Amino acid sequence: MLSPSCTVQAIPVAPGIAVGRVMRVGGTPRELPEPVVLAPEMALPEMARFNSALDKTRIELCALRDELREKLADSEAGIFDAHILLLEDEMLLAEVRKGIQQDHYSAEYAVYATIEKFYAVFGTVNDEYLRERAADLRDVGNRIMDNLSGVDVAKIAYNEPRIIIASNLTPSETVGLERDFVLGFATETGSATSHTAILARSLKLPAVVGIPKDILDRLTIADKLIIDGFSGKVIVNPDRRTEEAYLLKRSEEMRFYSELTEERDLPPETLDGFQLQLAVNLDADQDYDEVHQVGAYGVGLFRTEFLFMSPDSLPDEEHQYEIYKNLLVSAGNQPVTIRTIDIGGDKLNSTIQRSTEQNPFLGLRGIRLCLLEQQKLFATQLRALLRAGVYGDLRVMLPMVSSIFELRDTKKIIADLQEELASENIPFVQNLKLGIMIETPVAAVIARKFAPEVDFFSIGTNDLIQYTMAVDRSNERVAYLYRPTHPAILHLIRNTVEAAKEYNLYVSVCGQMAESTMYTPLLLGLGVNELSMPTASVPVQRRLIRSLNLIDCENLVEQALQCCNANEVMELTRELVAGCAPEMLEH
Ligand code: PEP
Ligand code: MG
Repeated sequence: MLSPSCTVQAIPVAPGIAVGRVMRVGGTPRELPEPVVLAPEMALPEMARFNSALDKTRIELCALRDELREKLADSEAGIFDAHILLLEDEMLLAEVRKGIQQDHYSAEYAVYATIEKFYAVFGTVNDEYLRERAADLRDVGNRIMDNLSGVDVAKIAYNEPRIIIASNLTPSETVGLERDFVLGFATETGSATSHTAILARSLKLPAVVGIPKDILDRLTIADKLIIDGFSGKVIVNPDRRTEEAYLLKRSEEMRFYSELTEERDLPPETLDGFQLQLAVNLDADQDYDEVHQVGAYGVGLFRTEFLFMSPDSLPDEEHQYEIYKNLLVSAGNQPVTIRTIDIGGDKLNSTIQRSTEQNPFLGLRGIRLCLLEQQKLFATQLRALLRAGVYGDLRVMLPMVSSIFELRDTKKIIADLQEELASENIPFVQNLKLGIMIETPVAAVIARKFAPEVDFFSIGTNDLIQYTMAVDRSNERVAYLYRPTHPAILHLIRNTVEAAKEYNLYVSVCGQMAESTMYTPLLLGLGVNELSMPTASVPVQRRLIRSLNLIDCENLVEQALQCCNANEVMELTRELVAGCAPEMLEH
């Protein structure tokens, strides 16, 4: 049944407009079916109905698995293998059958009650792996229930592009989606720097978070949504006039964007002649052609942890070597910055992480995990990188560095691996360019101590802001405190850039702050060399940079550093942008 028409204010996390029907992903519960108790003689036909829905679900899941296997890696199709196994789980089936035969429940209610009973056990345990299996359970349950009510889930899932709705999308769920059939994302939890949002931006898809749970739970596959990734507005079942107005806005956005793309050969240079480098945060499944298409210069961040998201198979040295080598070959002489695995925080992998933690963002994450628990995995990755490095301008970057010893220990591992490769007569890069992410306040504060021991810095503002402001970056409830323009953040960036300048180091910014035009005057004025962002943001950033004067940006920063809150800084920045590129405020 259609939900009533309504408008909700959510948080915009990826720009753009999407109009379409919804598809629910992940473990959000369905509306409770009526606990219908049937006459005892109905138990037999009800059981037949259940068995036929089960068969249909199995056929659908096998078809989906095979279809995905053709298009994506085996490991991603493996998600459906796990779902198929659940359909054969004896305990689960016995419970549903008992509900139908002994309690005389309708098949829908028996399935619902069983799934929720198992979910209550697994869904709340302090183990990410079991919680994910519990979400699988709800997925499978929802499919069976759709088949009981005659809805063709497979068709809906993959034959028509949809807006993905979910309570929470994990990075692995997002990675597993069939990209061509996704129009946008709308979730209850998350933030601009959670990984679904990062992925949405790299796919150029709009996304919003913070949809109230009561609205989200009511939506069914028949409901249509408009999501406005600029303002955060979400309209459920819009009337025709509203829908037409948004479709028009969408085509205007597309026109504006394609006009900007035509400027791809113009240098990203300010009016007074300062050239900022624009690089790309490239996704594991993006083609390097996209970098050329927007006229960017190299890759400022390649997040390798997404190669390690499947719990069933981790890429070995050869597999990684091929991926890194292909990337470097396609980049020609442009630099490619590859970050070593940053598992942890919200990027979880139950095979790599041996234990669950109370506070994963402050736990064994990034370089800590690699040095303390996953030495072999780390060494395999570094060997693949050292070998691939002979094919281009490779820069290797370490995530989550908070101690100089993490850097030194890594250098020692690299030196040992180089010796090993030499003894095996395998070609490798001798002078590996090694840099660190500045994404913990400690690294920003003592950047001067790191500077003489690295080749470059890359400021990860997503985490730097989270750790400085003490705000979980993926928690929409404290999103109001997550402020890139807070003077404390600007002071940390300023300190990092000054340290880098003393040692002639290149400084990039690769967090979300680098992709939003509202922060560009500040980053320019602070003196960074490069902004690295999703391809979609490059044309807009180029246009803005070409409308600014460096000197105005430097003056802005001097004033901003004297402010005591983020709003004041935002106001000053807005004034500057309104004066030189007012059209940017609308997009
Ligand atoms: C960052 O923290 O800014 C960053 C780029 O890394 P990630 O978002 O992958 O943590
Ligand atoms: Mg980070």
